[in-house]
Amino acid sequence: MTALQQILVDLAPYNAQLVAVSKTKPTEAILQVYHEGHRLFGENRAQELAAKYEKLPKDIEWHMIGHLQRKKVKYIAPFVSMIHAIDTMSLLEEVNKRAGMSERRISVLLQVKIADEESKYGFDSSDLASVFAEIEAMSIPHVQIAGLMGMASFVEDQQQVSAEFATLKEAFDSIKAAHYPNDPAFRILSMGMSGDYKLALQAGSNMVRIGSLIFGAR
Ligand SMILES: *Cc1c(COP(=O)(O)O)cnc(C)c1O
Repeated sequence: MTALQQILVDLAPYNAQLVAVSKTKPTEAILQVYHEGHRLFGENRAQELAAKYEKLPKDIEWHMIGHLQRKKVKYIAPFVSMIHAIDTMSLLEEVNKRAGMSERRISVLLQVKIADEESKYGFDSSDLASVFAEIEAMSIPHVQIAGLMGMASFVEDQQQVSAEFATLKEAFDSIKAAHYPNDPAFRILSMGMSGDYKLALQAGSNMVRIGSLIFGAR
């Protein structure tokens, strides 16, 4: 079995989707995974993503998974299918604006800080209630709020990692209940990477972002 096949076997009981994270990897490596049948890939740099989009088959679904600067949204807005790491209101507004210019609607996830490391990006979970109240009052027809994304601490302690994922799952459930109870589009909980995706799945993830396990170390 290839690494991809093994991961898909692990994901199946959870009905979770796999974003194959191809950052820094050449197009040939991506094509190899493509020819195994996979169509969903993630990148964390806007220009690298745009360049790969140009070169690779057009039935690939591209997700932007990393921190995104406002000024770089324009490179990916014409084609990207999901942006995982919305971490400010002004980025959300920029995505709405650029998606509108391309006459598109882009699915987005809000990034939430769950690691105890001093992470630079993401909303504090204690701010989510007011953040979503604000979003509800905004007019952003060109974005689809599809869920939440987070990254656990990079530590050996599995209990800590599981607890951080559980925090994000609780936030997801409460936001869903408060703001999107009848909106089937709000359904993505993006958490889990090569080192912790099994813990993430057990905690309720339905979208994992896996790079090195598929493509080898970077
Ligand atoms: C690189 C990256 C991943 C994948 O990391 P691996 O450890 O290689 O699986 C997942 N999410 C984000 C945001 C990343 O930048």
